[in-house]
Amino acid sequence: MTNINIQNANKSYAKGSTFAVADLTLDIPTSEFLCLLGPSGCGKSTTLRMIAGLENLTSGQIKIGDQIVDATEEGIFVPPEKRNLGMVFQNYALWPHMTIEENIEFGLKIKKVPAAKRRDILDTVLTTLGIQKFKDRYPSEVSGGQQQRVALARMIAVSPDVILLDEPLSNLDAKLRLDMRAELKRIHNELGSTFIFVTHDQWEAMTLATTIAVMNEGKLQQVGTPEDIYDRPANRFVAEFVGTLPINIIEMESLGSNPVLQNWISANFARLQLDESSTGSVGIRPEAIELVADAKTVPDHIEPCQAKIMDLVPTGGSWIAELDINGTRIFALRSQVKGLAVGATVQLSIGLGDLRVFDTDGNRIPTT
Ligand code: ADP
Repeated sequence: MTNINIQNANKSYAKGSTFAVADLTLDIPTSEFLCLLGPSGCGKSTTLRMIAGLENLTSGQIKIGDQIVDATEEGIFVPPEKRNLGMVFQNYALWPHMTIEENIEFGLKIKKVPAAKRRDILDTVLTTLGIQKFKDRYPSEVSGGQQQRVALARMIAVSPDVILLDEPLSNLDAKLRLDMRAELKRIHNELGSTFIFVTHDQWEAMTLATTIAVMNEGKLQQVGTPEDIYDRPANRFVAEFVGTLPINIIEMESLGSNPVLQNWISANFARLQLDESSTGSVGIRPEAIELVADAKTVPDHIEPCQAKIMDLVPTGGSWIAELDINGTRIFALRSQVKGLAVGATVQLSIGLGDLRVFDTDGNRIPTT
């Protein structure tokens, strides 16, 4: 059973250059499926490579289980092959001159696993990943998706304590991604290993992870369950990074030119007993906005807000409603739009609990 502990880790690639990862402290419990999520260049791969031992820290410390594997100040550095990790990267790096079976068996031979035991393990992983019938082919003779499965099989075969995956699904088409996603989740449940999965895709992270660590510009923004990240974002960056449709952001400083919105915000803030002066912005997820044709049907505990429907866009199974509140544009996501028409005036029904309030630095102010 293996947990990972990262303490105040800093990494700069060249002396004096900015930190690719800055002051990262992160505890990853045993058997966690942790997704490192953030935009390109935010330091996800660097973090993974530091855990793997492919990069050493500029300062700080990493512990895997009870063993310190990297502590620059103390001159400790355990090489990758001694960390009992499995890694799968975006380019799977299969040996081209070995068959698929030989590729998978290679790691077992290195570990000096006896032949009979190797046979058992091979049978199990080939079946688990559905690649039994390709086992005698060379990597160039199977599709990208199948190569990806082989890379996973090769890694699983050696039963690593910790499994590191760097955007492993990014080369797959949508259907295969979905299948592999489910497969990864199942493998995680079966193996009980600690998984660390790097992705820039918030949907992938939300659907796979038990815990998500969101990063931006080398800095950790928030660690939490997918629900925490979605419902209780630590700051505006996190709120804006997750969500299929971006969260609507109303800037408090824009309210001067929109008395309708100002009144609505003030009424809500009064109900929440919140101070407007320390607030920088308010976020509302598109899926939290209900459209009501008749103001009288908005429940008493909700402050209605009048808006005009500018457009209704079908997205297959749901609709995006583009709304105008006295000159301010916002978007709602609805599963159906019966009785609504472009050009019509509607009431927006938004629960108090659906307002995400941020201070002037962008940090969320809890409202409950
Ligand atoms: P991500 O995985 O989130 O896309 P990376 O960890 O790859 O981000 O990169 C973080 C930062 O470090 C980026 O600014 C990137 O340009 C820089 N970087 C990554 N690898 C190297 C390298 N080998 N040499 C110099 N800079 C690097």
